[in-house]
Amino acid sequence: MRFEKGMKVLVTGGAGYIGSHAVRRLKQAGFETLVLDNLVYGHQAFVPADELIIGDLEDRDLLARIFKEHEIGAVMHFAAYAYVGESVTAPGKYYRNNVSSTLNLLDAMQQAGVLHFIFSSTCATYGEPQVVPIAEDHPQNPINPYGQSKLMVEQILKDYDKAYALKSIRLRYFNAAGADPTGGIGEDHNPETHLIPLVLDVALGLRPHITIFGTDYLTPDGTCIRDYIHVSDLADAHVLGLEYLLKGGESQVFNLGNGSGFSVREVIDMAEQVTQKKIAVVEGLRREGDPAILVGSSAKVKAVLGWNPQFADLHNIVSTAWSWHQKRFGASS
Ligand code: UDP
Repeated sequence: MRFEKGMKVLVTGGAGYIGSHAVRRLKQAGFETLVLDNLVYGHQAFVPADELIIGDLEDRDLLARIFKEHEIGAVMHFAAYAYVGESVTAPGKYYRNNVSSTLNLLDAMQQAGVLHFIFSSTCATYGEPQVVPIAEDHPQNPINPYGQSKLMVEQILKDYDKAYALKSIRLRYFNAAGADPTGGIGEDHNPETHLIPLVLDVALGLRPHITIFGTDYLTPDGTCIRDYIHVSDLADAHVLGLEYLLKGGESQVFNLGNGSGFSVREVIDMAEQVTQKKIAVVEGLRREGDPAILVGSSAKVKAVLGWNPQFADLHNIVSTAWSWHQKRFGASS
């Protein structure tokens, strides 16, 4: 089915952190959106009430109904569990939700003749990198069930393209962070496990310290190195990917990072600079499932989609996260 004017983009997990930023960007680009979210981790306030369907991807009848009752021309699929540590201790939850629910969604799409799909994949599909920065053709050997579950969906998407011509853009995110500078949405996980919001909690006095997970990695300061990417830049890539598919583009896979790595200590230092607060640190044990270094090359997405990140430096990323964090979690909120 071709994407016609007036058709909607179904955004699963659109009330979540990255999904809500993508909904904003889609609207700015002139798309109509419909959000499907079970609100387990999503926030009702992050999306317009008249565009939200509260429901679960496990519900095949609901999915069939959504595609029947709405003119949907494409799907952006954010709904997933994404806690690396939890995926190690509760793998079934990850395979059921991230793989089996995605199959329900793809089957509903295929039955409705909707053949454009944007997928949130992850750098966790690479496992321990053999070379950095990581390019898309780097071998994928995930070291945790979260990464494994996303890799399985990547494979399923290749097979659905062959079988049904369902075209997809698989976006392998590095570490999403920051918040839309125009306000109202940002990172708000419960429980929060991510480094930047936890460090900002310490700056706000909501936690006594940040625990560094491992100081004995083979990195210059012994702490893990990650490639942080602003959530609005991430959202932009989704819209560009969708436009590319709608113009008849073939399925593609792209990394989304900034190509520069920061250690946990460097992130904490940056947070001290941005917040002007002292961040107390406790050196802890490694967290299972964490590779030492994950830094991605985004040369391909820049070349093919013309992606041009607006908030590429860590100072910007932490500053927008701090603005959001103070409003959302600060004493006066
Ligand atoms: N990290 C840490 N302390 C924390 C949370 C995270 O040292 O309380 C480290 C973690 O080991 C990783 C980096 O910060 O090296 C980013 O972790 P996060 O959970 O934010 O994202 P992930 O890399 O798991 O997607």
